[in-house]
Amino acid sequence: MKKNIALIGSTGSVGRQVLQVVDANADFRIVSLTANTNKELLEKQITEYKPQVACLTGASELPSAPSHTKVYCGADSIFNAVVDDADIVFVAVTGFAGLEVVLRAIEKGKTVALANKEALVVGGELVMAAAKENGVEIIPVDSEHSALWQSLNFAKSGYKKLILTASGGPFRNAKMCEMGNFSPEDALKHPNWRMGDKITIDCATMLNKGFEVIEAHYLFNAPLNSIEVLVHPQSIVHSMVQFADNSVIAEMSAPSMLQPIQMALTYPEKLVAPMPELDLISVGKLEFYPLDREKFPCFDIAVNSLKAGGNIPCAMNAASEIAVRAFLDRKISFTDIPVVIKKVVENTEWQAATLRSLKQTDNTSRIAAKNYIEEIGNNT
Ligand code: MG
Repeated sequence: MKKNIALIGSTGSVGRQVLQVVDANADFRIVSLTANTNKELLEKQITEYKPQVACLTGASELPSAPSHTKVYCGADSIFNAVVDDADIVFVAVTGFAGLEVVLRAIEKGKTVALANKEALVVGGELVMAAAKENGVEIIPVDSEHSALWQSLNFAKSGYKKLILTASGGPFRNAKMCEMGNFSPEDALKHPNWRMGDKITIDCATMLNKGFEVIEAHYLFNAPLNSIEVLVHPQSIVHSMVQFADNSVIAEMSAPSMLQPIQMALTYPEKLVAPMPELDLISVGKLEFYPLDREKFPCFDIAVNSLKAGGNIPCAMNAASEIAVRAFLDRKISFTDIPVVIKKVVENTEWQAATLRSLKQTDNTSRIAAKNYIEEIGNNT
């Protein structure tokens, strides 16, 4: 049976891999595509996939679009990509923009394949409530959550403990005192995964693992004390589930997003995938270590923001985007990233989570983060 896919964010790292999976399976059809600013690649994709709709959110026009595709431009154009014919809305955009488009897809009763972290980190309460109300399924695409879901045999309950694995990032073996000296180039060298810049830095600070605890909390309705994190440098076990009898089921595969992406699209079937076979003999050993929470303070900052709830995770996320950008632009050091995020979070007035309060918090937190970064710059 043909499956119609609305692909939100088709020119980024995950979006391009979704199209790789689509290329390898004759049953998948792309009905819409969206990009932020990459006109050239979007035009190429429109010619190749002939979607009904294409949206360019970061520009006002796409001059050379072919006539078979209706093109929309501008920030709000993204909602046009949630077309009626879509069977599944694959959300592969990064950042706050993911939240509203996820909510729109849920309102329209569409199954959501969720690769965007911010929708749950920032708006988990809203998204899960809306999904429940509309009877919509949220399919995890983040590799850890896909692994948990597969280990649970596609259930979202029935576990005693969810064990998220973390590669440990490029600074796993670094000494605490060295952390402030790392450059953007050092932090962008992820040992096992190739991804966008923001998430790669979030892996180096372990903020990403904190984000993933929040995602797991919402996706699997998991109390915080039932979620554990283990550092696993080989990135072969993508996560594990411990059951009532203390047996553990893990999902293993070569580190590639192609597996969780395809799983989201073919679930509950496991089909031939365009990815390498796992060669455990060449991997040699699988190691597991506790997470050093003192060396990676971003992890606790993220988890504590979930405990605070309301608009606080939103402030944490907005500050992280500004802090990571400033680090990449060499305005602050690696160890300033958690300092900026923490300061913004501490100065955020708690509000219940509504789309309106979250948008406002997102705005004010970005401004606050920029101000702190300037202060840091003036003091060094
Ligand atoms: Mg992940």
